[in-house]
Amino acid sequence: MILHFGPLSIRTRLTLWYSAILLGILTVISVLGYSALRWSLLQDLDASLLTVAQALADTSVASRRPDDLETEAFLRELLGPEIYDKFFQLFDREGHPEGTLRRRSQALTLSPLAQRNAAQNVRTFETIGTDPSRHIRLLTMPIFRGGELAQIVQVGMPLQRARSALRRYLETLVILIPFGVALAAAGGAIIARTALRPVDEMALAARRITAEDLERRISLRGTGDELDRLAETLNGMLARLSAAFAEQRRFTADAAHELRTPLTALKGGIEVSLRANRPAEDYRKALAGGLEEVERLIRLAEDLLLLSRSTAGPETSRGPVELEPLLLDVFDVGVRLAQGTRVSVRVNDVTPVTVRGDVSALRRALLNLVENAIKYTPAGGKVELSLTSDDGFAVLTVQDTGIGIATTDQERIFERFVRLDAARARETGGTGLGLSIARAIVVAHGGTLEVKSEAGAGSRFTIRLPR
Ligand code: ADP
Repeated sequence: MILHFGPLSIRTRLTLWYSAILLGILTVISVLGYSALRWSLLQDLDASLLTVAQALADTSVASRRPDDLETEAFLRELLGPEIYDKFFQLFDREGHPEGTLRRRSQALTLSPLAQRNAAQNVRTFETIGTDPSRHIRLLTMPIFRGGELAQIVQVGMPLQRARSALRRYLETLVILIPFGVALAAAGGAIIARTALRPVDEMALAARRITAEDLERRISLRGTGDELDRLAETLNGMLARLSAAFAEQRRFTADAAHELRTPLTALKGGIEVSLRANRPAEDYRKALAGGLEEVERLIRLAEDLLLLSRSTAGPETSRGPVELEPLLLDVFDVGVRLAQGTRVSVRVNDVTPVTVRGDVSALRRALLNLVENAIKYTPAGGKVELSLTSDDGFAVLTVQDTGIGIATTDQERIFERFVRLDAARARETGGTGLGLSIARAIVVAHGGTLEVKSEAGAGSRFTIRLPR
């Protein structure tokens, strides 16, 4: 049977991870501790064997050859409690057992290696015995007198005590480590749950927020920690989304309103014409009026399309655009537009500058400015175009001597569907989208579009594009 678990929660994963890490660390520490303990136990054992052997060699025990009981008493006096768990054995220089000091049931043996070492005045430590539970640590030490090997003394001690100390240590570890890890895992799970609870709450709060309800916010806990920052970031995003939605709604409403006006006029015209039989001339007039409204609708539709395209981001057809021919081309159109208005259109400065971008979009932006300048400049005024380059920027300006814009309206005119009263009064038929489109295009090219103007004295629109 295959058990299928769903994706593990962060909480569970965190707990598993650090439990595993803790287990690893504890295991490594235990292995090291065990080896160190083993080493130091053996070291102690060897040191104590050496002390005893040295004591034996230094005293006359070896040379006394007394009987067992007397020697035993002497040794007990010499070594004190050290004697109880040790065995002793003496050999002569040939390695034959000589006078038993304190033996255990089975005789201590002299290995060939120990004997060879002894002949060279070298001590030998060995672990002997076949049965692990009865291993003996054995020191074989030569006694030299007058520069010659006189005797060999052996001191032995069972390893059992050290072994059982080690085993107890191991048993303790085997019980304590899983216990410790289990405790840590439980504690960790609680900490992880507490730490992550706000995330769950945040997710719940975020789920409740829908597109219609973008004004709601995720509440901050005021701790200023990562989760508060996350909540702030989400709230910021919600605010931007909400603003974008509101803007979208406003735009749709404005657009619908703009569409409704000419349609209503059209409908009114048609209804009036149909109400009674009229002379042909009246029909012609009604149709001409209708045509005007239809043209207005077409212009509006085109402008809307243009606006949505230019705000959709960088145009696809980007390439080097030479601004000089572009300016001259727009100038030509301007001259034609100004025909019959007694507004003179001129070009002031022209420097050849090339920028990267979409040539037709840039032409549209400049043309909108020129159209406005001609539209809002009374007869006898003039419109001047110029192209210069300034500090890494191409600068296009359109200056007029027209009606100007009041300071309070200067930012507003770039908004969609905004037409100032002065413009409405003139019935010039603008859609109020021209400047929005121009600015959207310039911004999409990484540039800026600004206006400087004084009511009654004229305006100066400046496009700055990075080269
Ligand atoms: P419109 O289609 O009405 O021209 P725009 O977005 O191009 O719409 O312009 C918005 C408003 O800004 C205009 O209605 C007009 O009131 C004002 N405006 C634009 N250009 C000028 C200018 N050169 N001189 C005076 N007012 C201007």
